Amino acid sequence: MDPLIAVVGATGTGKSKLAVDLASRFNGEIINGDAMQMYRGLPIITNQIPVDERNGIPHHLLSCVDLDEEAWRIGKFKKETLRLIEEIRARGKTPVLVGGTHYYTQAVLFKDQLVGEGSEDEDGPEPSTELVSTSEKWPILDSPPEVLMEKLTEVDPVMAQRWHPKDARKIRRSLEIYFQTGRRASEIYAEQQMMKNEAVSKNEGLLRFDNTLIFWVHAEKEILNSRLNARVGDMLKQGLMSEAQAMSDYLRDKRSEGIDVDLTRGVWVSIGFKELAPYFEALQQPEKSEKELEELRLTCIESIRNATRQYGRSQIKWIRNKLWKSLSDAGMTHRLYLLDSSDVGNWKTCITEPSEKLVQTMLDGEPTPDPKSLSELAKTVLGAKEEQTREKPESTTKCFTCEICRKTMAGEEQWKIHLTSYGHKRGLKSAAKKAERDAYFRKTELESQEAPESEASKV
Ligand SMILES: [Zn+2]
Repeated sequence: MDPLIAVVGATGTGKSKLAVDLASRFNGEIINGDAMQMYRGLPIITNQIPVDERNGIPHHLLSCVDLDEEAWRIGKFKKETLRLIEEIRARGKTPVLVGGTHYYTQAVLFKDQLVGEGSEDEDGPEPSTELVSTSEKWPILDSPPEVLMEKLTEVDPVMAQRWHPKDARKIRRSLEIYFQTGRRASEIYAEQQMMKNEAVSKNEGLLRFDNTLIFWVHAEKEILNSRLNARVGDMLKQGLMSEAQAMSDYLRDKRSEGIDVDLTRGVWVSIGFKELAPYFEALQQPEKSEKELEELRLTCIESIRNATRQYGRSQIKWIRNKLWKSLSDAGMTHRLYLLDSSDVGNWKTCITEPSEKLVQTMLDGEPTPDPKSLSELAKTVLGAKEEQTREKPESTTKCFTCEICRKTMAGEEQWKIHLTSYGHKRGLKSAAKKAERDAYFRKTELESQEAPESEASKV
C-alpha cells in the first residue's frame, strides 16, 4: 500500500528520534529533509543525529554535500527524494522523511505547489532570496499601490479585480508572478484550480502519495524555548566552537586563495556559524584584549540562542500556515498528527506509542482517529486551525468598489451589506439631490443660453 511517513516540527523537538523509532518498528529507511544536515563534517552545528542513536537505520541525504558545494535547490531535493522513495519501496521498506526545512518536505508531500510542478521551481531562486532580488530587477514593484494596480490591470485584469486597490502586498505578488514567470497569475491559479478539481474528481487529493501520515512533534511554547536554550548549551559542550572555528579557517584559506565564497547561502547561514563569525574575526586582531574577546564570545552565544528560538518559531509558523493551508486545500488535514513532546520523560507514551499505533492503523487500511483526540495540545492547536479555516473567506473573493462612497469591499457579502448600510443610503440620497440640483442648474443655464438663440431663430 506504499505508505509515506513524514516527521516535521521545530528544531529541538526530537524529530530525528521519532523517525528512528518509526523506521525501526516498520522496517523503514530515513530520508533527511534538513538542508543544513546535508553538509558533511558539521554534525554539531547542523544538529545531525549521532551515529550511535541511529539504531542501524540507513539515513539518506545526510552528510552528502561538501563545504565548497552549493546548497541543493529545492527542485534537486525533490527529484532525489522521489527517486529514493521509489528505491526504498523497491526494497520492500518504508520511507520516513524527516527534517526541519519544511518547504523541502512540502515539495515532496504535495503534487502541485505554487508555480506548478517541474517548471519554474526546478532551478529557481530559493524563497529566502526571492523577495530581495525581484524589486531590484523590476523597480516598479516598489511603487505605491495605485501604480502597482495600474500595471496589474494592464497585464492581468482578472487578478487586478480580485484585490483591494490598497492591498499593495497582494497586488505586488501578482505582478511579481507575472514578471517572474511571464504568465498571468490568474492563469496559473486557474490551471492549479483545474488540476485540483481533476485530482478531486479522481479522488486523489493533492497529496503525492495516498497513504501519507505526517507527524508534527510539538511542545508547549515555554518548554520548547527552554529546550532550545539548553540545546545551545549542549552544542557548546559537544564542540560547536571547534566546528565553527574550522569553518572560519576554511573561509580564510579560500580568501587568501582569492576565492570568494557566497556567505548568503548554504551552510554559511547556518545558526551557530554566522553568529560566531564576529568572534573569530576578532581573534585575528592582535589589539583585542582577553576581556574584550570573552565579552564578544558571550554576546555571540547569546545571539545563537536568540536565532535558534527565532528559527524554531518560523518553523512552527510554516506548519501552521503553509503546510496547513496545503493540507486544507487538499482536504487532508486529518493526516497531520500533532504529538505533544512537552513531557520528555514520557516520550514512549506521548510520542512513540501513539505514532506507531497510527501507522499500524493506516497499514491495516482502517480509518485513523481524529487528530484532535490525541492530546490536549493537539486539541487546542489543531482545533484553532480548523476554526480559522472555517471562518476564512474564499481566496477567490472579488472586490467591489462603490463609486458614490469611494469605498472598496472584498466579497459579495460585504458588498450587499454596504448597499443596505446607512452610510451608503445617505450617500445615495445626497448624490441624488446633487444630481437633481446639477440638472436644475444645467437646465436653467441651458435655457438662459438657448433663450436669445430661440428669439433669434424666430426673427
Ligand atoms: Zn456606497
